[in-house]
Amino acid sequence: MEWGARGAGVVVGAAVGDALGGPFEFGPAGAFSARFPEVGCGGEMAGGGGWDPGEATDDTQMAVLVGESLLECEGLDLPDVFGRFRRWAAAEPKDIGLQTEDVLTSGLEWDRAAAEHFRVNRRAAGNGALMRASTSAVWFAGRGRAATMDAARRISALTHGDPAAWEGTAIFHELVRVALAGGDPLAALPDVLGVVHPEHRERYAVVLAADWHPDLATEFNGAVWPCLGSAVWALRTTDGFEEALRAAIDLGGDTDTVAAVAGGLAGACYGLEAVPARWTEPLHVPLPGWGERVLRVEELVDLARRLGAGVGAGEGE
Ligand SMILES: [Mg+2]
Repeated sequence: MEWGARGAGVVVGAAVGDALGGPFEFGPAGAFSARFPEVGCGGEMAGGGGWDPGEATDDTQMAVLVGESLLECEGLDLPDVFGRFRRWAAAEPKDIGLQTEDVLTSGLEWDRAAAEHFRVNRRAAGNGALMRASTSAVWFAGRGRAATMDAARRISALTHGDPAAWEGTAIFHELVRVALAGGDPLAALPDVLGVVHPEHRERYAVVLAADWHPDLATEFNGAVWPCLGSAVWALRTTDGFEEALRAAIDLGGDTDTVAAVAGGLAGACYGLEAVPARWTEPLHVPLPGWGERVLRVEELVDLARRLGAGVGAGEGE
């Protein structure tokens, strides 16, 4: 498969998961398959819970902000990313993580806001940095393991002061890099765990183990560990893009984010062609803070293509 198809699969796959899971957020397990019993039955992009059919939530909105910053700054400019996040948060998006909102509206500088929040609250290992990592994962995929994991940590740290959140995002970045290079991210897991920060390795080893099941989670899946573990579980226990997303949303809880993470990984493995057209067609990403801008799938594909340009060529097969 061509590298570009996988790169677009990451960005569009994550966005589709987000939009598909949004209406089921905080709902019970099994709600998705109760409403849409069969694979391929259609009508799944139905909206609800305040979301229009196909409307992407904060996960994708923030991912677009990160991706556009990387392109316009020609690399990682953390104050610029933080500035875009703040402009977005100030425009009162429909959905924003509690911690992300606290940090972005604190008035503190980009390099102090999240650290100060963590110092005061001590609980900051939400999945809010992991959820927005699709675009940065594509941009950094061609730059090697150390560079992509380092970038993931630094972008996470803009809103999440807890290093546990950084490590989860770093693992996601690395799994995407492996998949875009034509490798098997599940087979790479033991190797990836070896480069996770030692203080956080054991906890990730538990949720990423082949015999782990989301029922074994010790926290709500809005926390970074079960969120990543559940997304990897959805990929491992299914054999197609659509099946992986159904499994992720059927877990209930923070369905948009678990499905966004699962969709990014599944999109990297199966490519853009595996994402059902009936899901991409209604997909749209409003961008609060940027006037009436709304991105459609063509613009997400173009964003992914530009993020991968120059670094992906020759990387995969
Ligand atoms: Mg969301």
